[in-house]
Amino acid sequence: MKVFVVNCGSSSIKYQLFDMTDESVLAKGVVERVGSADALLEHTAKGMTTKQQVVAPDHSAGMKLIFDVLVDAQLGVLKSISEIDGIGHRVLHGGEKINQPCLIDDNVRDVIRENFLLGPLHNPANLMGIDAAIAAMPNVPNVAVFDTGFFATLPPHAFRYAVPSAWYTKYHVRRYGFHGTSHRYVTRKAAELLGKHAGEVNLITVHLGNGCSMTAVANGKAVDHSMGLTPLEGLMMGTRSGDIDPAVLFHMHSVGKLTLAQLDAALNKQSGLLGVSGVSNDMRDCLAAADGGNENAALALRMYIYRIAKYVGSYYTILPSCDAVVLTGGVGENSVAVRSWILQSLARLGVKGDEKRNGQTVRGKAGPVTTDDSTLPVWVVPTNEELMIARDTMVLVKGE
Ligand code: AMP
Repeated sequence: MKVFVVNCGSSSIKYQLFDMTDESVLAKGVVERVGSADALLEHTAKGMTTKQQVVAPDHSAGMKLIFDVLVDAQLGVLKSISEIDGIGHRVLHGGEKINQPCLIDDNVRDVIRENFLLGPLHNPANLMGIDAAIAAMPNVPNVAVFDTGFFATLPPHAFRYAVPSAWYTKYHVRRYGFHGTSHRYVTRKAAELLGKHAGEVNLITVHLGNGCSMTAVANGKAVDHSMGLTPLEGLMMGTRSGDIDPAVLFHMHSVGKLTLAQLDAALNKQSGLLGVSGVSNDMRDCLAAADGGNENAALALRMYIYRIAKYVGSYYTILPSCDAVVLTGGVGENSVAVRSWILQSLARLGVKGDEKRNGQTVRGKAGPVTTDDSTLPVWVVPTNEELMIARDTMVLVKGE
């Protein structure tokens, strides 16, 4: 069975084609700058990566280009596009109505549309991708896998904000949670690696990429999560502030004369590592700058680690027990230095880092980065959201 996985952004279409007999990736790539005059298709297959300028005025055109390259005589991996058995879509926001992966029909499309306000950057793009895929291959089942889905099990005391109840009942203001497919994937994988049943594992999963989020997992289910109504709350991120006193906004509106749009841009795009370091949103650049003596970059890193330690401490308290802290995402999987600071910052919880293991667990490797006698083990588990979506799609397409 072959499954095509799509992740549509407002100006990009990322894709992977899986052969589910062995879960191998046959091809992957991205169309960037969709909608502009100079779109770019990067395609990797058969061990070769090619880049070409393409014309992709909209998502439909971009999707057609991808299907064309998949059957191209030189770059392609399929004889015919009809070899694709199912298409899985990453969708940001299912609101409160959908929390499971599901076959896409008009009802599901309506729910994705209803949640445009809660996911203004992603849901419209996700729906464009779905429509483009349906238009290109009308007879193939499409599956939506929601980023919010894993958090349907959060109890009300974790998902409600202490604001007037009508904000929730009338305007749906609550914690939804994001990166759910990643947290779900690493939860299952960690359970497997720890030799535990998926429904029995207790974890703190920490996704550290450009966006950063954390989940408390009790008996395999999410019971708390750091992101909220939007992916802005919680940990410090590449360009996002994470937690902040909401009154800062009133202050900056009245004293700094910032408009709502400027406040939104400041917290989402000009804060986090970028805002504090003044160097970059990219962890590698911040590490290099701090190494070179840049004090703002060093402070940004310290704040980043400090916030993670505070969240681990609070999640540790609310869990019945904790089998491991799991690190994932671009930073969690690759940065030996950041992991080393995280390990040190968790010493009070009985974490004993193993620098040799830490140094060796890179480039997609999974494993513990603590000593065997560490009271609280810390593991690195590389995430694979696309594979999770492909698995979900296969199950629904097969009707198992
Ligand atoms: P992601 O969003 O999961 O792709 O992660 C992106 C982040 O991972 C960026 O901040 C990168 O700088 C960071 N990253 C990737 N590789 C490394 C590395 N070897 N060391 C430090 N940070 C890294």
